[in-house]
Amino acid sequence: MTLTRDHVMTEAAPTSAEFVAPGSTGSVVEVKPRYENFIGGRWVAPTKGEYMANVSPVNGQPFCEVAKSTKEDVELALDAAHQAKDAWGETSLTERAAVLNRIADAIEANLEMLAVAESWENGKPVRETLAADIPLAVDHFRYFAGATRSLEGRSTEIDKDTVAYHFHEPLGVVGQIIPFNFPLLMAAWKIAPALAYGNTVVWKPADLVPLTSIRVVEALVDAGLPPGVLNLIIGRGSTVGETLVTHSAVSAITFTGSNAVGRAVQLQAVARGKRAQLELGGKNPAVVLADADLGLAAEHVARGSFLSAGQKCTATSRVIVERPVMEEFSERLSALAQEWKVGDALDPTSRVGPLSSAAQLETGLGYLQTARTEGATILAGGGRADELGEGYFVRPTVLTDVRPDSRILREEIFGPVATLLAVDSYDAAIAAANDTPFGLSASVFTRDLGAALAFANEIKAGVVKVNLESAGLEYQVPFGGTKDSSSGSREQGKAAREFFTEWKTVYIDSQRA
Ligand code: NAP
Ligand code: MG
Repeated sequence: MTLTRDHVMTEAAPTSAEFVAPGSTGSVVEVKPRYENFIGGRWVAPTKGEYMANVSPVNGQPFCEVAKSTKEDVELALDAAHQAKDAWGETSLTERAAVLNRIADAIEANLEMLAVAESWENGKPVRETLAADIPLAVDHFRYFAGATRSLEGRSTEIDKDTVAYHFHEPLGVVGQIIPFNFPLLMAAWKIAPALAYGNTVVWKPADLVPLTSIRVVEALVDAGLPPGVLNLIIGRGSTVGETLVTHSAVSAITFTGSNAVGRAVQLQAVARGKRAQLELGGKNPAVVLADADLGLAAEHVARGSFLSAGQKCTATSRVIVERPVMEEFSERLSALAQEWKVGDALDPTSRVGPLSSAAQLETGLGYLQTARTEGATILAGGGRADELGEGYFVRPTVLTDVRPDSRILREEIFGPVATLLAVDSYDAAIAAANDTPFGLSASVFTRDLGAALAFANEIKAGVVKVNLESAGLEYQVPFGGTKDSSSGSREQGKAAREFFTEWKTVYIDSQRA
């Protein structure tokens, strides 16, 4: 079966059901009982010998154990990265590009296995992991393989005798802290440019989703990465995070995750003079103006709100609709919420899988309880999909009549929940859209180019989409948010080069040389 990105974007469901749970006979993924850290090119047991269970959100059952690392393990990984950094930084750009291409090849050769591993431990349906998350990560390594080759310095005349040339140098060791919602793709966003620009990496995945990272590293062992260039530390952020952020061997830290943790990481890093890049939460608006194509708007709002069970920083959360079209739009969106199949992440016909953990489920249901208590109207969904057993499934939910000051409209829910808000004018729409501490992504649906451009200018967001869902990104253009959603330089494209390198400027007086 060949799946393409279009399967995520369209109604056409893949037909095969050949994916079976890891561990069962004939599965695409075999899972060992226990996994360790990858340090200095070897699999290494955690120094304290402790392990933790990896639980699938599809059935709530543990399916393997992984290292529960401590500070000492992080120090070993940092030491390995530190020892490898000079040689890797001096590797030719051609060789680095070749290594990145081989990483892409290795991931691609294991695409199905990695998609199933990610779906099983994260809960994201295979139609997303197989058609988007894993192939996009492959493409990402290829993009940065190409970008490596176009790393250019400059030279500037100072006077008749003197010229200054300036060029990019690697930073050294980069610590990378990744959230649970895109275990491979978020890591690829950071690992690919870090390696491309000559840095070595200590990678800490979220403890909910270690298997995807481990299986990726297993696939990479033959890609020609010198020992110590990429190190993987599995463990709790609350235990290993501080050492990774503050250790003297680390030059920069790139973090994607929640605001609470991200701000603490930023303070620790900045206090020690380290470069810090933070991609944090969102509370992203979609504005539907009265002249919009309502079918298109409903489809894109549904994708933005319900794909990945709403567990995306760029998920659509607040849907601001001009009153004359509210009734028709809300009927269309609610119909999609009811139609989209909620189910097993490994069933190719599922569009919405479970939330990724019991804690995410509890938080999500808590918000829905708040909505009920505050008198909101639930147009679709509104609770757990009880018929799906012990998995952490929440039905795609559409809310309306939510109090303007409600937590539902102010806090990131990270579940498949869209909240509708009626407004009487474009000005009221933009005011409502900007009424949030976040500023990551935003959509507008309209046929009026003037209104679209006004929105693009007036919305406080790092990414603006016109007649498109708020999620879904390309790598050749910068990505990041404003206000509380991001700090430090943008990710992607040339912006990544600015974060992962520093300029060196050399003056030469030719007359005295
Ligand atoms: P999280 O709880 O903040 O965790 C993110 C990462 O930080 C995990 O690897 C976590 O490890 C680690 N961590 C936890 N405590 C730490 C500490 N004290 N020091 C250093 N690291 C620590 O976020 P999440 O729940 O995984 O991810 C969801 C959040 O990520 C949402 O807010 C979402 O909006 C945001 N996100 C943002 C973007 C973006 O590009 N803006 C993209 C995706 C997601 P453990 O898992 O071991 O706790
Ligand atoms: Mg897990």
